[in-house]
This record gives sequence, C-alpha cells and structure tokens, in this order.
Amino acid sequence: MKPLYESAAGSPLAGNQRFYGRLAESVEERTQVESFVVPLRSGKAWPVKAGQICRIVEIEGPQVVDFNAWNLHNPRERFWAARTKQLHHAHMQVFDRFWSCLPYLRPMATVIGDSINYGIDQDGAGCHDLLGTRCDPYVHKLLSGEELDVCCHSNLTRAVAPFRLCETDVHDVLNIFQVTGLTPDKHQYFVKPCPAKKGDYFEFFAEIDLLCAISTCPHGDMSIPIWGPGASAAPIDICRPVGVEVHVLRPEMLVGWHSPAVSSYAGLHGMRLK
Ligand SMILES: [Zn+2]
Repeated sequence: MKPLYESAAGSPLAGNQRFYGRLAESVEERTQVESFVVPLRSGKAWPVKAGQICRIVEIEGPQVVDFNAWNLHNPRERFWAARTKQLHHAHMQVFDRFWSCLPYLRPMATVIGDSINYGIDQDGAGCHDLLGTRCDPYVHKLLSGEELDVCCHSNLTRAVAPFRLCETDVHDVLNIFQVTGLTPDKHQYFVKPCPAKKGDYFEFFAEIDLLCAISTCPHGDMSIPIWGPGASAAPIDICRPVGVEVHVLRPEMLVGWHSPAVSSYAGLHGMRLK
C-alpha cells in the first residue's frame, strides 16, 4: 500500500533533516535554561520559545505522558493530532512535525530526538501514540461509575489554568512513551506496557513560541489493564514523575532557519465579499 501523504525530500512536510540532525547532536552548543519535575498523576504547563529545544525525560522509569501544545500568543492555534497522524505517522518519529489546526496549518515543532526508537513491533504496535487520546473523567465515569479527578484531561485542565486557558482548550494529545496499535482482526485500539527505562527521552525543536503542557497519566506505565477482564484500579506504584528540560542553542546553530508562517490560503472558502 502507498501512503496517502508522502513527505519526500523537498515536500513541505519534510523538514531539513541535516539541520535537525545537527540540532539533535548539539550537546556542546546547548545551554539548559529550565528544568523541573512533574509529579506523578499531575500536570504542568510551560512556555518554550521558537528556536529552543524541549526534552521530556523518564527520570525514574516507565511513565506515559500526555502532551498538548498551543501558540503561546494565540491559543486558538493548537496541535492538530489527527492531521499530524495522516501527514506523518500514527506513532511520532524523529523528523515528524507537530502541525497546527486550521486556519493556521504550520509546523509548531519538529521531533529531533527519541531514545526509545521502538519502530513497529510484531503486533504492528508503535511508540509515541497519535491513534488514541487522553484519559478523561467523563469516559471514566461512563465505564466505571467512579469519579476520578487525576485523569490526563483534568491534569491538563489544571495545568493550563494559570495561563487563563480552560477545559475546552485541552485537545487531542500525543501520548509520549505509550505503545499502541490496532488489533489485526477488528482494528480495535490496544495498549502495551511502556517500554521506557530510566533516562529515556523524547525531544523536540520549537518552530514557533509555544505553550506546552503535559500530564503524567494516572495509569502510569500501562502495565495493568484499565478496562475489561483482569482490569483493576491502577496502583500508584506503577506511576512515576517525569522531568522536563528546556535548552537554548548558540545562535549560529540557527543560521538559515526561520519560524514558519501560517498558511497563505486566502480563498475565503469560495465566499466573496461584494
Ligand atoms: Zn491518561
């Protein structure tokens, strides 16, 4: 089968791999300007400026992380997980880009580092999931009857409140460090235990000024079924904190790079003002 969208060299989908590859190796050219820990079953939001690198680190071991991103200056422009999945891969890989929603449609960030490098396993599963979305207290109540206030949707909602955003600003996520796939027979969504080890990281380059937010999922390392036969409330000992680092680069590393503009489409959807 041929992919519907191909990001061949020269396509607007493909970034300059030499440039991003150099950034990934730029240990000497970086200065860490921020470092903090997001406790287990919680959330945190923080800005990353255009041209900076952000690294999400498994500081204690396997833990799934739900990620959202907005234009720091305009929260209507936010990460478009479904389109990113179509344009690149259902599991984000190095050089894939985080595309923003309409009417903006530009790369908000580019993946430059992934120490897991999971690939596609024998069950067709991959890591860093765009097939699914965040856990939320509404589905949780629907399926269990219980009220749980530390679902990723709620963790993200609390995280963005200091930036004057709210529940309706939270959107479909990238599930970092989460291995998922579709069953071969009926194409039903499945999850596998998180393969990350202490020290593993996922890293991206910010193409525009971003507000980022993550949730440390209450289901931790996904090693216990959440629903169905054998399910149980996830014990807290499968949940771990996660580290976040922001790095600035020496300016000469960014020569020739420009923060991308929003889409130039000006057709007004066929409507004309008379
Ligand atoms: Zn979750």
